[in-house]
Amino acid sequence: MAAAAGAPGAAPVLTVEQARQRVMAGLPRVQERERLSIRHALGRVLADDVVSPIDVPAHDNSAMDGYALRAADLAGSGPTQLPVAGTALAGQPFHGSLPAGHCLRIMTGAMLPPGLDSVVPQEAVSVVDGRLVVPAGSVQAGQHVRLRGEDLARGRPALPSGRRLRSADLGLLASLGQAEVVVWRPLRVAVFSTGDELRGIGQPLDEGCIYDSNRHALLGLLQGLPVEALDLGMVRDDPAALEAVLLGAAAQADVILTSGGVSSGEADHTRALLARLGQVTFCSLAMRPGRPLAFGRIAHHGREALLFGLPGNPVASMVAFLVFVRDALLTIGGATAGPPVLLKARASGPMRKRPGRTEYQRGLLGCADGEPTVRLTGSQGSGILHSMSQADALVVLHHEQGDVAPGDWVDVMPLQGLL
Ligand code: AMP
Ligand code: MG
Repeated sequence: MAAAAGAPGAAPVLTVEQARQRVMAGLPRVQERERLSIRHALGRVLADDVVSPIDVPAHDNSAMDGYALRAADLAGSGPTQLPVAGTALAGQPFHGSLPAGHCLRIMTGAMLPPGLDSVVPQEAVSVVDGRLVVPAGSVQAGQHVRLRGEDLARGRPALPSGRRLRSADLGLLASLGQAEVVVWRPLRVAVFSTGDELRGIGQPLDEGCIYDSNRHALLGLLQGLPVEALDLGMVRDDPAALEAVLLGAAAQADVILTSGGVSSGEADHTRALLARLGQVTFCSLAMRPGRPLAFGRIAHHGREALLFGLPGNPVASMVAFLVFVRDALLTIGGATAGPPVLLKARASGPMRKRPGRTEYQRGLLGCADGEPTVRLTGSQGSGILHSMSQADALVVLHHEQGDVAPGDWVDVMPLQGLL
């Protein structure tokens, strides 16, 4: 482990990458599956591969409103006249006789009868006395035909296990005639906040107190994941109260998410307690915001729950969630996950950055001269929750990186879909 040595007894200092590796190494996986109607499967994680039981589409069909014909019936030069034998509509195939050299009026989605191989759009032709007039050179063999199985052939993989189902996937499953899917059960994630200064919404704000905002932001973040959240409220900075809540959480949850109480300034009882109840590592991250982090396992009655102790500062707790917890929850929940995608944008203004830590600054994406840009949301203090509320991206300034000049390219993590 390449952790730098801190003061005696101090938490090891880890880079974001080191901490991510530690968090992701040896995560458990949920084992129970459940069968769900696709109506209730959005966002859930497939436990089995889905193989297409049918060809989609099931028949060759027209991609245009027009006329179906056999390309070989067309003359090489000059227009061709073809008698129109009838009409095929979507869902109403043509079953009449189709003598050689005839064509068919056909609508989008209508089945192409055997023998015909091309569709000419109605705009490209005219009909005179029941005969279609096709100008020379207006048809390429096979044009405007959707072939049987071209979307998904029978027996082909349609969706892989580990896939988090999106709207298009539900449509795809429906196109296969599949009413249900087998998914992993949702993770149970218990969330509570710690701090004597915290008050709940509706309570009087006593002197020196603040409303507990982290719990609500974290519960919101969890709503975008295949998770059943358990809201355990607020816990005072009191070892007995904390122990009771932690053990209760370990008894019912797969993962415990706390905020506050993990920085090195905290009373030692929190650390001592966590150390006694399980195996928890405290670290100091070379990261801003979000320096303190605790993670490990809490055991109770033969059950183990994974614990993430997030920093108390509101922006820090959200950023730490995005950087460490989100992928971990997806992975435990059976999803094929990776870290959020980083894109490039040009810095609209200067950005102060100290080499030797990873910084996540709150930014707003834009566009100038055809290039993506990002500007900061203003004050970047880790308690300025407003900056997170305004931002549509995090500017990711990497460990070794220094100050950024206007016009420099920087990495950005778009927040759409993450918050
Ligand atoms: P801590 O990590 O407990 O030392 O807290 C760091 C800072 O975050 C302090 O200013 C706390 O008051 C604040 N804080 C801790 N928990 C919360 C919370 N749940 N909601 C809002 N602010 C919090
Ligand atoms: Mg605290």
